[in-house]
Amino acid sequence: MAPTDTPKKPFHVAVCGGGIGGLCMAIGLLHQNISCTLYESAPAFAEIGAGVSLGPNAVRAMSLIDPDIKKGYDKIATSNAWPEKRKFWFEFNLGQKGEKWGDIKAPGKEMLRVAQVVASDMGHSSVHRAHFLDVLVNLVPDGVAQFGKRVEQVEKKAEKMVLTFHDGSTAEADAVIGCDGVKSRSRQILLGENHQTTNPTFTGKYAYRGLIPMEKAVGAIGEELARNSQMYMGRHGHVLTFPIENGKTMNVVAFQSKADGKWEDERWVLPMKKEDIFNDFAGWGDDVQHILSLMEKPDVWALFDHPPAPTYYKGRFALLGDAAHASTPHQGAGAGQAIEDAFVLSNLLGQVDSVNKIENAFKGYDAIRRPRSQRVVTTSRDAAAIYEFEDERLGSDLDLIKRTLESRYDWIWDEDLPQQLKKAQEVAGQRANL
Ligand SMILES: Cc1cc2nc3c(=O)[nH]c(=O)nc-3n(C[C@H](O)[C@H](O)[C@H](O)COP(=O)(O)OP(=O)(O)OC[C@H]3O[C@@H](n4cnc5c(N)ncnc54)[C@H](O)[C@@H]3O)c2cc1C
Repeated sequence: MAPTDTPKKPFHVAVCGGGIGGLCMAIGLLHQNISCTLYESAPAFAEIGAGVSLGPNAVRAMSLIDPDIKKGYDKIATSNAWPEKRKFWFEFNLGQKGEKWGDIKAPGKEMLRVAQVVASDMGHSSVHRAHFLDVLVNLVPDGVAQFGKRVEQVEKKAEKMVLTFHDGSTAEADAVIGCDGVKSRSRQILLGENHQTTNPTFTGKYAYRGLIPMEKAVGAIGEELARNSQMYMGRHGHVLTFPIENGKTMNVVAFQSKADGKWEDERWVLPMKKEDIFNDFAGWGDDVQHILSLMEKPDVWALFDHPPAPTYYKGRFALLGDAAHASTPHQGAGAGQAIEDAFVLSNLLGQVDSVNKIENAFKGYDAIRRPRSQRVVTTSRDAAAIYEFEDERLGSDLDLIKRTLESRYDWIWDEDLPQQLKKAQEVAGQRANL
């Protein structure tokens, strides 16, 4: 929590949206002694019953926002169970049956390991989303969050930023940070409803998500595959699994491509029909079939991402997390980028001593965070193409795929975050304090 000996900053910030991004931002602001109100449209904080995996960069960013986030995370985070596999992000295997491999040059075994990708020296860890949200919520004092507040409009009136909510009420702040997710209203307001980059685009992929009690998973596919993170690659689809909840549960996401590349349903999350998943994965190996048959209460998620916005701020209004740069999940890096955003922006605002310098802080944030987070979006789409043998250069050349996978994520995981902040401070005209 905030160091009590520093005086409160002379401005108030409105944070719109209480997901991982908005909560990390609010905690970061409080840690910098900045007063804020978090406006959440839902009646309470809520996350879905699924896992989220966080790379070493995201875990380091937590400590840098507020060491209490990292302490809470450590209590609920799960890594691969086998010590010799702790540093692996995923082990990549061929997931389809041998006869489906076509031109892939591999021995006639049903499952073949393609690569073991090491996630720097920290390795890979994952949490149950709802439990991580609880960790974050516990760091936000009573009175900071207001619920049932769907932001509809943000305007500058005289010297104040004025928010108008769906229920007709209004609120004032000196700065507004839109953290309202992939379908962000803040993004529409900031970029303009008709701007070509405002709306998310369907990526041609959808995903079945579900959980499996670990004992059942072990019974079906064995200790090694169930208790350590695995990726099963195949033509136009892939499946990933990783342990969460201290190894009590296996998280599953099974991806497929939509042949016509279109998503016409206005809902992006649909209940799953068991027959659909088995049709989609017909011809996949026994391990994958077992995993799919055990998934409990799965949903189907259409995967959308954002075209690159020309800016993440206008005046004293900024975007953060998925509202700024919604990404596909193929690098497990979307939430991590929201956490990095919150680290950089809360520290920049922590150096601001008057309302008229807020815009400079946003300028530094935009200059440094936009290129990196947008690169995560494009390389995430590229990642799915590799896992599904759709990449034009790599095709189904397993040697080339292995070499590519082994190094293509390092720039995400090994980022020097204090250095990133320093560069943002330079753009903002601030003195570096790290
Ligand atoms: C299938 C799938 C798997 C994923 N797996 C991973 C992973 O393993 N690792 C990873 O790092 N990332 C992953 N991601 C991405 C990650 O989930 C997101 O990047 C992250 O949750 C974004 O957090 P956020 O706070 O920006 O947005 P959100 O979590 O969407 O939160 C937005 C909040 O704003 C509220 N809100 C919406 N509109 C308004 C409004 N108008 N006014 C006020 N409040 C509003 C919402 O109710 C919500 O609480 C995955 C995504 C998908 C789809």
